[in-house]
Amino acid sequence: MSRLGRSHGVAGLPQPRSVKTALTEVRRAVREALGRFAFGAGEAARALAYLGADCVFCGSPARAWDLLVPRRSGGEVVLGNVVPVCLFCHGNKREQDFQAWMLQDRWPGLRARGIANVRGRLRRLRAYMTHFQYTPTSLEVRLGPGGLRAFEEVHRRDRQLRTAVAQLLAVAGSGTAGREVPANTQRPRASAAPATTAPR
Ligand SMILES: [Zn+2]
Repeated sequence: MSRLGRSHGVAGLPQPRSVKTALTEVRRAVREALGRFAFGAGEAARALAYLGADCVFCGSPARAWDLLVPRRSGGEVVLGNVVPVCLFCHGNKREQDFQAWMLQDRWPGLRARGIANVRGRLRRLRAYMTHFQYTPTSLEVRLGPGGLRAFEEVHRRDRQLRTAVAQLLAVAGSGTAGREVPANTQRPRASAAPATTAPR
């Protein structure tokens, strides 16, 4: 039997993209574009001068940068929010808020790993935020009422687009229609937009 027949996909041919994944990427990119991204070599040097080159959470040698306040919570990529971390903490904290993550008792929390002086480390990170005048703000606060309305409108059109794509795939009898673009029921928290019910 040839390799071509056995392989899972067809080697070399482009595979169909997931529309759902692409639309989710757009939503994420829009959200990220609404926050500042101002962390280059100069900012990195200043952060390391203040914090040192060890992981701010556990003290192991740092190998990556992470955000104290994650983007999902409105965190921005700026001095005062970007910190050096080890790969273990980087892989485990992910999109969690740094305070809750640092103070949790269960594995792989800092205490369960035997890291000393967690509260002291937490105070140091709050001081780092203060030193570089970083105040976390939610997207709702940053946008204000007018911006929030525009954001809700983008979100509403995003839901409409998902529905329209699902209808298109159904009409076209696309082989991927069955697993594409489920109706999205997720709504932003501080909702000011009129309720819309997406037709199925
Ligand atoms: Zn660490």
